[in-house]
Amino acid sequence: MYIALDIGGTNTRVGSFTSLDSNTLTEYIKFKTKEDYTRGLRNITDAISKFSNNEKLDAIGVSIASGISADGKTVVDPNIPAWKAESLLSDLKSEYKIPVNIINDGTAGGIAESVWGNGKNLKSFTFLTWGTGLGGVTVEKLGNQLVVYEYEPGHLNIGGDGRKCRCGKVDCIESYVGGYAVEKRLNKKMSELSREEWDTVLECMEKGILKILEKHPVDYLILDGNVIIKHPDFIKNLEKRLKGFVNNITLLESSIGDKAPLYGTLMTLNTTFGIELHKDF
Ligand SMILES: [Zn+2]
Repeated sequence: MYIALDIGGTNTRVGSFTSLDSNTLTEYIKFKTKEDYTRGLRNITDAISKFSNNEKLDAIGVSIASGISADGKTVVDPNIPAWKAESLLSDLKSEYKIPVNIINDGTAGGIAESVWGNGKNLKSFTFLTWGTGLGGVTVEKLGNQLVVYEYEPGHLNIGGDGRKCRCGKVDCIESYVGGYAVEKRLNKKMSELSREEWDTVLECMEKGILKILEKHPVDYLILDGNVIIKHPDFIKNLEKRLKGFVNNITLLESSIGDKAPLYGTLMTLNTTFGIELHKDF
C-alpha cells in the first residue's frame, strides 16, 4: 500500500493507493493544515494508521507548499512556516522505516498533469497552481523522461510598488495575486472580492504570466488551484488578455483539480519512471 500526502497552505490531503496508479485511490481524507507542526503531523499519522489498518506500507510520497533545494532543505518560506520539508521527511522516515519522497506541490501537480491530465499529449507546458500562493513548474517531455524546471514562478519580480512578499523579497507575483497577500491587503476573504477587485488581481496575474513566459517560453499553460477551481471563467479571461502580447498561447484548466499534487507525488514513487528535476531559484 502506498500513501500520498499533500500539505497545502490551507488543506492537507491524505490518500492511500493499492498501486502506483492514481486510479487505485482507495481511501482519502482532507482536513485543515494545522499551523502547529506537531499537531498537524499527528493528524497525518492518525489518518495513515486508519487507512493502513495494520496492512504493510510500501512507501510514502509527500508534496508540500514550499520550495525544496537540491539538498532537501526548505528554501522559500512555506505558507505554513512551521512545516519544514527536512523535518517532515526525517520524522516520517523514522516513524515508518520505509522510503519517503518529498517534493514541492507545484512540481507534483505538474507531474500529475503530464501523466494523467491535460498535459498528457503536450511536449511542454507550464503548470501553475493559484491559491494561497502561486506555485508551478515548466515540464518538458523527452521520450519516457520528464524534465521538470522548478523556479518558484510565484516569486519572480514583476516590479510595482515594492510590496513585501512572505519570502522576504519584494514585488513577487505572489505578493499581488496570492490569496494570502490579497486577503491581507484588502482585509477580506477571496470569496468576498468584488468584480473590480478581481479585475485588478487579474491584471497583475496577466503581468505575472508574461514574466513567467519570459523565463520559460511555452505555448500551453495549465492552471489549477483554489482560485481557478472557484473561477474557471478566469481561464478564458486571462487567455484573452495574454493574446494581446503572445499569439500562440493556450490556457487550459487542470483536468485533475485539487488531487493533482497527491497523484503527482505518487508518481515520484515509481522508480521505473524518469523524472529529472532542474532547480533554479
Ligand atoms: Zn516572494
